[in-house]
Amino acid sequence: MVYAGVLVGMGGPRRMVYMHEIRDWSQRQPGCHPFYIHQSHFLKDGFWNLHCECRLENPPVLRPEERVTEPVFYQLLDKFWMAAQLPLAGILYFLGGWAWVVWGICVRVVLSLTGHWLVGYFAHNHGEMTWRVNGASVQGYNVKGLGLLTMGESWHNNHHAFPESAKLGLEEGQHDPGWWLLVMLKKFGLVTDLKLPHDLPARPELERVNEQHGELSLSCFSPCLGENQTQAAELKCPKLF
Ligand SMILES: [Zn+2]
Repeated sequence: MVYAGVLVGMGGPRRMVYMHEIRDWSQRQPGCHPFYIHQSHFLKDGFWNLHCECRLENPPVLRPEERVTEPVFYQLLDKFWMAAQLPLAGILYFLGGWAWVVWGICVRVVLSLTGHWLVGYFAHNHGEMTWRVNGASVQGYNVKGLGLLTMGESWHNNHHAFPESAKLGLEEGQHDPGWWLLVMLKKFGLVTDLKLPHDLPARPELERVNEQHGELSLSCFSPCLGENQTQAAELKCPKLF
């Protein structure tokens, strides 16, 4: 399962955990670099998130659990996460030649990474809000209609409210295929300790609201909020010009 996750093309297990943690940590702070809260212009945000890296001057110390860092297989995946595509590329070449490799590796990775960023962009700018996290630099929004396509990730307002909940679609009609898969894997004993909102400690900063934010339309391509930012950070971008 971990190997399949690495095939998405973001990084090894440790890197993926770190990227999620640093983003969520940043979003919970009162001030946060626009890189992490997706509140720059659509095109700028896309370029930043797909081609750049944000390096904080004083980053928090995030220590992944030992079960992520200790297994040798995971360490190998961390080191050779790009090469991890090669076995699959070999199988695809054997089955259908270069066309299968292009579609099954290159196009798939581009679509996966672009899709991941797009969900992140929309889910921090447009949609419904059932919960407000007071004091956070950005709120998450539930983007209707994308639940099935995003395996439940589009219920991002719920994720901000209950970050440790394995289930993201919490209200009626919020389809969450990611949760359905986890329930199935639990039946086979492949996952344990699934947490739901009622298993988590109460958060005093959490407030139940009912608001609509933005419209999912072409207006989302206009510049969003300004660049309120604080934590001096360096953006490492590739030199294109
Ligand atoms: Zn978020």
